[in-house]
Amino acid sequence: MRIVYVEDNLANVHLVKRVARMGKHEVINYIDGMDALNNFATDKPDLVLMDIQLAGELTGIEVVQKLRNDGFTTPIIAVTAYAMVGDKERCIEAGCTGYMSKPIPVTDLVNLFHEYEKLEQETEKEATEEKVQEQPAKTEASEAAETATKAETSE
Ligand code: MN
Repeated sequence: MRIVYVEDNLANVHLVKRVARMGKHEVINYIDGMDALNNFATDKPDLVLMDIQLAGELTGIEVVQKLRNDGFTTPIIAVTAYAMVGDKERCIEAGCTGYMSKPIPVTDLVNLFHEYEKLEQETEKEATEEKVQEQPAKTEASEAAETATKAETSE
């Protein structure tokens, strides 16, 4: 998977990159929310991890709101040190898919990557199956040929 991680604390970035590498995931880090927004359409991430308290002009919440306004449906997990009551709700309301509090336990991160990797593979499989169904129906001639081949094989 390609993961975009918007985070200004490099210790957290190192941790996430290390865990991601074990699962052969790629991590693109932005310390500034505006940079993440500007590159989002090009990056096309499968998963986003979003720090809420960012050093730049925008908060993580604002970045999420803008992404959702632009129509992006990519799963976004808020990663935040805020321990305030109602913080989780605020993130979900802004359009986050899930929420994790810092410091992030490594096992939680491993499980998260695993879960979204599975989801992504299922989505890809569905897309392939839809394509197969779109192909034209068999012609009578090709069906007859197939039946003939089957008969030969069974002998
Ligand atoms: Mn931060």
